Amino acid sequence: MARLVMKFGGTSVADLDRIRNVAAHVKREVDAGHQVAVVVSAMSGKTNELVAFCRGAALLHDAREYDAVVASGEQVTSGLLAITLQAMGVDARSWQGWQVPIVTDQAHGAARIASIDGTRVIQQMEEGRVAVIAGFQGIAPDGRISTLGRGGSDTSAVAIAAALKAERCDIYTDVDGVYTTDPRVVPKARRLDKVSFEEMLEMASLGSKVLQVRSVELAMVHRVRTFVRSSFEDPANPKTMPNGDPFGTLICDEDEIVEQQVVTGIAYSKDEAQISIRRVADKPGVAAAVFVPLAAANINVDMIVQNVSSDGKETDITFTVPAVDYERAVSVLESNLEGIGYQAIEGAKDVCKVSVIGIGMRSHAGVAADAFQALASKGINIRAITTSEIKISVLIDAAYTELAVRTLHSVYGLDKA
Ligand code: ASP
Ligand code: MG
Repeated sequence: MARLVMKFGGTSVADLDRIRNVAAHVKREVDAGHQVAVVVSAMSGKTNELVAFCRGAALLHDAREYDAVVASGEQVTSGLLAITLQAMGVDARSWQGWQVPIVTDQAHGAARIASIDGTRVIQQMEEGRVAVIAGFQGIAPDGRISTLGRGGSDTSAVAIAAALKAERCDIYTDVDGVYTTDPRVVPKARRLDKVSFEEMLEMASLGSKVLQVRSVELAMVHRVRTFVRSSFEDPANPKTMPNGDPFGTLICDEDEIVEQQVVTGIAYSKDEAQISIRRVADKPGVAAAVFVPLAAANINVDMIVQNVSSDGKETDITFTVPAVDYERAVSVLESNLEGIGYQAIEGAKDVCKVSVIGIGMRSHAGVAADAFQALASKGINIRAITTSEIKISVLIDAAYTELAVRTLHSVYGLDKA
């Protein structure tokens, strides 16, 4: 007997039939003797619709009222799932964020969870009642409903699993696990049985869209074993691994992973843009003059390349920003022209960041060299490079994304046989 958190996303609760399917998954775990808390998203498309209503009502609107509106999608699905479970003879009760309570900070629309008191939910679970908890929402210090930012119900689920000291947090979704890369780009991508928190955090930050980045951060901090699996399996008889374990990908501590690979996955993201500042003075304080105003404007800078100047006087600085912030970044730099001092700003939005990820890189030399050589052999030019202990990212022309991902995937032996 274990305590489990089961999370179902929007496509898994898109209509009453799918909610019945979810209820059948829950019933299976209850029948196996587990204590179960379920976290649900809104029906797919619902939150978009609610956000559009707010914008339609007034382009500039009060974030507290936005939260009152957009949190309602999860209120509906949590109640419907509780009703469906009851109709199947499973004792269940819905919980809104404020009822648990899940306390957040004051940042309406993009709140962070501050604390969760699991006492009452645990009590009910121990009495054999399934707790169906609305994802994506909590209660802010002002006593009003808050929401966690788009995709936030993954974060709700992991935070609840930590608070309830659950043995595992099962994320049911429309894919059957985490893959070595996007299977739509590389049909030979393989499902991973296990991936470490650190690697998953890089994969999520670098473009893999299976889990919200924040949920992985939280899982890593609280060591919540998080399991990604498909909600489209037969609920009564889901597929299992050869050893009888459920089928999917376990995100866990690296100690739990016996067979370590050097490279675990290839991620890519087209959500970045490149900015190059030409002929800035090569003297102390110039990088600060460029990046301090960008930080003040809340623009996240990622890859940074500064050339060694050839004449000791002037140099170029290249970096990337999120594509959505590109115009804003350029205008921040233009309005700081005097403080920085440069000849021109050049930019490109048709770029892609491709990343090679693996904790094995810590102890293996030559991983980066292999990537550069493989890309060169395909004639792919690298615009910028960043590395960390467990990843290498290169910025390339977006047109070469698929070729680059496929090439790297096979160079590191990730292709499925
Ligand atoms: N319903 C919310 C959204 O669409 C939260 C979630 O699905 O994770 O962003
Ligand atoms: Mg989601």
